[in-house]
Amino acid sequence: MKSKNILILGGGIGGIVAANELRRKLPASHKITIVEKEKDHSFAASFMWVMNGDRSIDKVTRPVKGLLRKGIDVVHGTVLEIVPDKMKVITKDNELSYDYLIIALGAELVFDRIPGLAEGAHTFYTLEGAERLNRALRDFKGGIISIVVSSLPYKCPGAPPEGAMLIADFFKKYKTENLVDIKILTPESQPMPVAGPLLGDSIRMMLQERGIAYHPKHKLKSVNYKVKTLVFEENEPVKYDMLIAIPPHQAAQLLRKSGLTNDAGWVPVDRATLKTKFENIFAIGDVTSISIPGRWDPNIPMMLPKAGVFAHFHGEVAAQQIFNAINGETSKGGFTGNGYCMIESGGGRAGFASGDFYAEPSPRLRLGNISRIWHWGKILFEKWWLSSFGIKKRFFALIIKIGGAILRVPAGS
Ligand SMILES: Cc1cc2nc3c(=O)[nH]c(=O)nc-3n(C[C@H](O)[C@H](O)[C@H](O)COP(=O)(O)OP(=O)(O)OC[C@H]3O[C@@H](n4cnc5c(N)ncnc54)[C@H](O)[C@@H]3O)c2cc1C
Repeated sequence: MKSKNILILGGGIGGIVAANELRRKLPASHKITIVEKEKDHSFAASFMWVMNGDRSIDKVTRPVKGLLRKGIDVVHGTVLEIVPDKMKVITKDNELSYDYLIIALGAELVFDRIPGLAEGAHTFYTLEGAERLNRALRDFKGGIISIVVSSLPYKCPGAPPEGAMLIADFFKKYKTENLVDIKILTPESQPMPVAGPLLGDSIRMMLQERGIAYHPKHKLKSVNYKVKTLVFEENEPVKYDMLIAIPPHQAAQLLRKSGLTNDAGWVPVDRATLKTKFENIFAIGDVTSISIPGRWDPNIPMMLPKAGVFAHFHGEVAAQQIFNAINGETSKGGFTGNGYCMIESGGGRAGFASGDFYAEPSPRLRLGNISRIWHWGKILFEKWWLSSFGIKKRFFALIIKIGGAILRVPAGS
């Protein structure tokens, strides 16, 4: 069998899983290379623990190389262009060829798209932002904290309510909760709209119990940071004392040039195989655009959320698809639409939402009890993800597997 050259662009969640799966499945004669611009990987699901002071930056960051199996080449560089016709990728310093390509470049955050946002807002969507926000929360003397979803789509739809509940918990810990008034403002019609009205109502209730106001259908136009005011397209302006933004997201601009994107700028893929319109190019994770059945909100088409859990499963599927192609197999290992998330609610507790996002006529999800178990489940997953290959990683994997079986975590997770 002729050896193949497999190139993975992006060493985040999807890229790391895809590379490790491919290395596990394929003989060493096949070359696997990952191109990543950063030396270190930071685990985004832990950023909110950096924000509330439970983690320092070094606790949630690891060298990319340490998270990969042996036998995977890492090129540290910035991808500038993909040339599908020539099966080539151009980086700042190299030209790399491939037989199979996996695009796992994630989503970029573009504060500049909304006037005044960069100047006026904190964020927990970046590691440095989460650390800065921790200092700002400590220094906060009281007033209105507005958490604003600045545009759609954005990664991790559970993050705004989760962030709000952890901030409420932060002030409760210091017994200053009476000094803050926390609100979420979003263009969506309910929390996690993709998960349907039932789950949305459960999250609204959780917010209400913690005194957090939820303002749906607020589409941000600009931020007048000099007078601390949010300006919306159709609603009255809203004053704030501290602004925390979920910034606008976009796929890397280089993907537009390569002819891989749709009008919205994301990469459409086959929802089962994750193939792009090019036979030997796959796209996984946040960079993709996958429509799903159902429509709760007539103004917002239903898309598979951008989340680590999907980037992870996509990585496994793309690896299986490439393995199939190399070995002349076809049937195994499509993406089924199953997903889950653990939402921290403060006080060392979390809820677990799971279900089938491809279910007809619309996604079927449910939120289980809020308990300490899911909080510890999230911590365990973090420890597993950030540990390097070896005994420790296998130990955490075993505990997660046993725990998953006892708690009946849905298939595929
Ligand atoms: C605060 C927060 C909390 C979250 N919590 C959860 C959660 O609890 N559960 C969950 O499922 N998801 C969560 N997510 C979402 C999750 O982190 C993302 O959906 C996931 O990381 C997407 O994986 P990916 O591989 O598609 O992209 P990423 O993990 O973002 O990886 C993309 C990689 O590509 C690299 N890259 C980009 N451009 C270039 C280039 N031109 N050249 C070279 N390299 C490049 C980047 O450096 C990065 O390493 C959270 C996100 C945030 C921000």
